[in-house]
Amino acid sequence: MIPASPSLTRISQLRQRLRDLGAKPCHEDRVLRGWSQVCSYDRKGSPAETFFPATLRNELPAIEAELDGLARLHGEYPADDEVARLLVELHDGQMVESVLLPRGGLCISTQVGCAVGCVFCMSGRAGLLRQLGSAEIVAQVALARRRRAVSKVVFMGMGEPAHNLDNVLEAIEVLGIQGNIGHKNLVLSTVGDLRVFERLPQEAVKPALALSLHSTDDALRAKLLPNAPRIPVEELVERCEEYARATHYPTQYQWTLIEGVNDSDAELERIVQLLTGKYAIMNFIPFNEVDGLDYRRPSPERLARIVGTLKQRGIITQLRDSAGQEIEGACGQLRARAVKEMPN
Ligand code: SF4
Repeated sequence: MIPASPSLTRISQLRQRLRDLGAKPCHEDRVLRGWSQVCSYDRKGSPAETFFPATLRNELPAIEAELDGLARLHGEYPADDEVARLLVELHDGQMVESVLLPRGGLCISTQVGCAVGCVFCMSGRAGLLRQLGSAEIVAQVALARRRRAVSKVVFMGMGEPAHNLDNVLEAIEVLGIQGNIGHKNLVLSTVGDLRVFERLPQEAVKPALALSLHSTDDALRAKLLPNAPRIPVEELVERCEEYARATHYPTQYQWTLIEGVNDSDAELERIVQLLTGKYAIMNFIPFNEVDGLDYRRPSPERLARIVGTLKQRGIITQLRDSAGQEIEGACGQLRARAVKEMPN
């Protein structure tokens, strides 16, 4: 049975616990490094044995056990190309998904469920169930690092990071400072929310930005992403551009391609108009056909034409597959299955 460990779900709670045990900032820093990088607390010439105050040292095993209980591996579904979906069980039995990606990448979740309700996504089917604390977010990275090295973290799993921004930014700060992940290799994905554009430029660790666009047409976008803020597409692109120029990381635009819905030539033309001259990368992800969702992905010929057209017109364009979709289906499907199979 997994011990409930609600007292350490946030990094601020972990820091406070350490301070209560006599930790100074240098001690906190070393604990956070050891945890998030899954490495020893010892440093050359400064072993943990003599570095930490005795009160803290004595409590560390209990704290580590609590942190381990924040995210446990419930199931692993490997595929080719270093890709594997991880079904992660949280301390209260809730499930989220992380995905190991090629070249040291990791996609993690920020919420259990999601309130945005994108029509093509399984994660949003049941709405938002709860927020993940910042420590639960970092714990997914620690869990993945016990399996292999992680050098890039994308916040594109279950949940809308903008709806849990305090926790997401707290996690990003630890991953970028103590977690040894390059700031541009932390990628926050959002459907577009003013809070993101206001907060990110103020942060010590500024992640790269991915914007889920899916259509250039405001009315269609509102149908595809029913609970996303109603910010006109042009304004979204302008705000992303401002952030991209300030940070020197291009904005990654995400677009799930659905046959007959958002794969028209008119959409391509508007993408060209919007993104020409912008510091941007267009990522197309063909819709992943799953039970219960009545959409289709465009044919391989159409996909090739879409990508070819945009490249010809000078837009940096990539065609991506939703990682691991060939193993166990769309984002959120593993969790949906695990929950269904749970005893009442
Ligand atoms: Fe939420 Fe992302 Fe799914 Fe949309 S695609 S419902 S934002 S998890």
